[in-house]
Amino acid sequence: MAIDFERIHQEFDGLIVDLCRECGGKCERDQIALFLPGEVEFIAKKLDLTPQEFIDRVCNIVEFRGEEVYMIKLAGDCPFLDKENRCELEKFNCKPISGMLYPVLVGLSGDEVRIFVDYKNCPMAHRLSEDFKEKAFRIYESIRKEIPQWWLEFISRYDCCTYDDSKFEELRDKMKISPEELEECKIKEK
Ligand code: SF4
Repeated sequence: MAIDFERIHQEFDGLIVDLCRECGGKCERDQIALFLPGEVEFIAKKLDLTPQEFIDRVCNIVEFRGEEVYMIKLAGDCPFLDKENRCELEKFNCKPISGMLYPVLVGLSGDEVRIFVDYKNCPMAHRLSEDFKEKAFRIYESIRKEIPQWWLEFISRYDCCTYDDSKFEELRDKMKISPEELEECKIKEK
């Protein structure tokens, strides 16, 4: 079954704008932002664009396990961020789910789906309200069966880590990038 993005946006009303403002948008600079399968089509429709027009304007694509993973263009400011650090897609009720629920994330632990808070990479994660956490966990719980294994594997490998923004610059204008190129941009842990 496909993910019901419309329902998620109707249900979820958690906000952490003040924490993000205080943090200064760390995850916007040193992490990647992925679209769930089917989400590009959902957002493009809301913006009155074809999926291909949307992809051409704002996406890099990584080929992984024979599938295409779409993410917001690497490096530079997110094309949807306004001067107040708010996502302009909120006005159209279609902010990407992984960004809307972050620092709550979904991934794999072995073969099991894992929903967790990214305390390692979000400096404000320890100040998240219980209300936000509970709502975000509930959304991921409700769609966990709809998220394919290859996407969960990709997010587990590439989302919960930090990247060198200057290396992203070289890849920004490449439509398709390889997992190896993405790997090269990771900041290696000491
Ligand atoms: S790192 Fe955490 S607090 Fe900072 S902008 Fe991202 S989600 Fe917000």
